[in-house]
Amino acid sequence: MPVTDRSFVSVADRVFNFSPGPAVLPLEVLERARDELLALPGVGISVLEISHRSPAFDKILDETLADLKGLLGIGDSHEVVFLQGGASQQFSMVPMNLLRGQSGAADYVVTGTWGATAIKEARREGKVHVAWDGASTNYDRLPAAGEIHLSESPAYVHVTSNETIQGVQWKHDPDVGDAPLVCDCSSDFLSRPIDVAKHGLIYACAQKNAGIAGVTAVIIRKDLLERSRDDLPTMLDYRTHVKNGSRPNTPPVFAVYILGLVCRWIRDSVGGLESMARHNRAKAKLIYDVLDTSGGFYTGHAKPDCRSEMNVTFRLPDEATEKEFVKGATARGLVDLKGHRSVGGIRASIYNAMPVEGVEALRDYMLEFQHARRA
Ligand SMILES: *Cc1c(COP(=O)(O)O)cnc(C)c1O
Repeated sequence: MPVTDRSFVSVADRVFNFSPGPAVLPLEVLERARDELLALPGVGISVLEISHRSPAFDKILDETLADLKGLLGIGDSHEVVFLQGGASQQFSMVPMNLLRGQSGAADYVVTGTWGATAIKEARREGKVHVAWDGASTNYDRLPAAGEIHLSESPAYVHVTSNETIQGVQWKHDPDVGDAPLVCDCSSDFLSRPIDVAKHGLIYACAQKNAGIAGVTAVIIRKDLLERSRDDLPTMLDYRTHVKNGSRPNTPPVFAVYILGLVCRWIRDSVGGLESMARHNRAKAKLIYDVLDTSGGFYTGHAKPDCRSEMNVTFRLPDEATEKEFVKGATARGLVDLKGHRSVGGIRASIYNAMPVEGVEALRDYMLEFQHARRA
């Protein structure tokens, strides 16, 4: 389609997007970004064209930082930086900065594919200890408190708050004693409050639940910055980003801008993270209730007490039926429901920005689909 063709799109063309990421964005955010894409108010150029050292971008960065800190209640104990390289780069940066030169091991609680990927990177850096691993049941549950076995004075303990592929989510922070708790919050970031004070480090890419690809938020307790050593590559040293206010080089200006809009949407339109969490819980319940009353037609992957409110994973009686389910859903404008190949079946990602109407439409389709099969 020629770029001069402007006849092609309207809000009415939007379908319900259950993609695991990059994922659905709030309509208000998209509309605001669209409106400001020709010119930021009072600036006369778009955020895509702006200098990252300009006063206009200073303001965007400062506001995004302040709004994010406000939402999460982050005080003076922690620094917040915006990095590139995705959550995957944090799999390396965390051990490079927090494990290098330490006498203790890095402990990993492996609850799914992302945790397993993170630990692989840590092994390249130093001593690693598996505190728990759910692989034997294909990551369908979380450890009970007594099942986590920490090493002697770990450098840190790494967890994944929500395993995006398997659909298991912590309901409380695990108790790790005095060790710094490091959490990959990529797929439930800003979906509920976080007790930041309990964490040594939190990281989250934005494109699941908090914006678009290109920016990763890292929240780090100030004293942990002292662990980073001078032999680190400059750009992989957290201190570089803290010292330079997330701007040692060109930051992903558009992604930071969108993250800022999402923060404001959560604060002003949703009413904050407690309210966001209530919405998300109610949405997830709509789908889990269908699973639980389907008489075994739909079977959830995650054990009920570990179910994710972000990614609902389930199977149908056989693969052919699953294929048909996805096809029928797509025809109704319910898209990207196919599960990850390692779990199979269906994955409905119902992040913050998925409206309840989308979840209701999925629920209705599930009920109808089952009914038609039984008839
Ligand atoms: C998507 C995801 C990642 C990887 O994020 P990238 O930004 O693509 O590197 C890591 N952890 C979790 C929990 C995720 O959902």
